[in-house]
Amino acid sequence: MQQAKKEARRSALAMPAEEFRNAGHRLVDRIADFIDSLPQRPVTTGESPSEIREALDAGRGLPESGTDAGALIDRAANLMFDHSLFNAHPRFWGYVTSGAAPIGMLAEFLGAAANPNCGAWLLSPMASEIEGQTIRWIAEMLNYPADCGGLFVSGGNMANIVGFLAGRAAKGGTELRSKGVDGKRLRAYCSSETHTWIQKAADIAGLGTESVRWIAVHKDFRIDVEALRKKIREDVEAGDKPFLVVGNAGTVSTGAVDPLIEIAGVCREFDVWFHVDGAYGAMAAAAPDAAAMFVGLDEADSLAVDPHKWLYAPLEAGCALVRDVSKLRDAFSYHPAYYHFGVQATNYFDLGPQNSRGFRALKVWLALQQVGREGYAEMIADDMRLSRAMYESVSKHSELEAMTQGLSIATFRYVPADLDRSDAKIADYLNELNQELLTRLQQGGEAYLSNAVIGGRYALRACIVNFRTTLEDVEGVPELVVRIGKQVDGERRK
Ligand SMILES: *Cc1c(COP(=O)(O)O)cnc(C)c1O
Repeated sequence: MQQAKKEARRSALAMPAEEFRNAGHRLVDRIADFIDSLPQRPVTTGESPSEIREALDAGRGLPESGTDAGALIDRAANLMFDHSLFNAHPRFWGYVTSGAAPIGMLAEFLGAAANPNCGAWLLSPMASEIEGQTIRWIAEMLNYPADCGGLFVSGGNMANIVGFLAGRAAKGGTELRSKGVDGKRLRAYCSSETHTWIQKAADIAGLGTESVRWIAVHKDFRIDVEALRKKIREDVEAGDKPFLVVGNAGTVSTGAVDPLIEIAGVCREFDVWFHVDGAYGAMAAAAPDAAAMFVGLDEADSLAVDPHKWLYAPLEAGCALVRDVSKLRDAFSYHPAYYHFGVQATNYFDLGPQNSRGFRALKVWLALQQVGREGYAEMIADDMRLSRAMYESVSKHSELEAMTQGLSIATFRYVPADLDRSDAKIADYLNELNQELLTRLQQGGEAYLSNAVIGGRYALRACIVNFRTTLEDVEGVPELVVRIGKQVDGERRK
């Protein structure tokens, strides 16, 4: 036999420890400076797509040979820190998007270093157990039964889709997974304020978007439970099969929380799956002042929450909880011959659509310990308090019309002093004016809002899921919005 040559392999991707250390330390220093600099930066540079592409050198071809890793990391940091929209900025209040908790940034680094595959327990023993503990802690925070099951997914959409598919499997009949929907007219019910994930879910699930029954809301944007009951009855009489009702624990436009306890009653009455979309708002159940709004949440068969929103985890982290974990297995698991994983522990590929899975739980697990339930309850309560303060300061301004305030969302619009907001003839003008105002405000970088449409009126919308926002930030909003509003109004009337 030939003597094997002992020659160290030198792989192009390997980084000698010293090089890794240097590049890593430099990056950590830069990130620390970046975090410190946030309040002094604009929220966004407002650059156009072509300016961004130019900064990137977007047209450049695939590099033929390699470049020093440290220099690459430096350039990547420059690109990100100089050309991003910073959702961690104290005055970022767009959509439902938080900045990343610093401990979450470190968690992502550590998670990538260990790189567990959280699909199977054998491939991720500690990580899988940490995921299980994190799921339980989230349930405890929300007063959801702690013996529930669940898993991390990419975000609220996926968490809701997982709940939807669990409900479909549970109520759609035993042959649904092998034979498909097979002519059964499965129907899902939700308020007209429900997030668009449900259309994707109905589509993906093969039910079609017309299977979604949008139920009217009251003036406070909460679902009309009597209308819900009536629609379910009608569908049953027509031979349809109601299988799921969605309760919103914080709608995306106005933060409305549906009467969950009443929806739970309807679900029992008609034997349908009760799913709660808590992607934005459910975490507020941890704040003592808000807890009463969420009565009935614990009766949900499934619940979607979104740690990358109100737990301030870096993207991506969504979480689907189910009262009875076997319902997730019933909806997702298959056992092909090439899977030989023990069944003594949870194999997360059994509980959801993913196979290989990253370690999303770590950043949430660490943050929950860094601040505890108390820390979260306080930050979330502060966000809601600041939102109410914003609403109040907007209400006091004669050229602003305060529209709604719920959880940590305030909506309002600019109405020039000489215009009568109730005059139907200027409705379109006010909509266009506020739309242009928002575009300008977003590009200006002083603060960042998004929009909502409230009863046909275009509104500016501030959603505070931001542990860096202060009262001063919030009280600056009326002056800023009116200043830009006046500019736009002046130009338009010329
Ligand atoms: C954000 C949100 C979603 C979607 O969550 P993603 O994390 O963006 O996928 C769904 N429902 C509600 C109520 C939301 O606020």
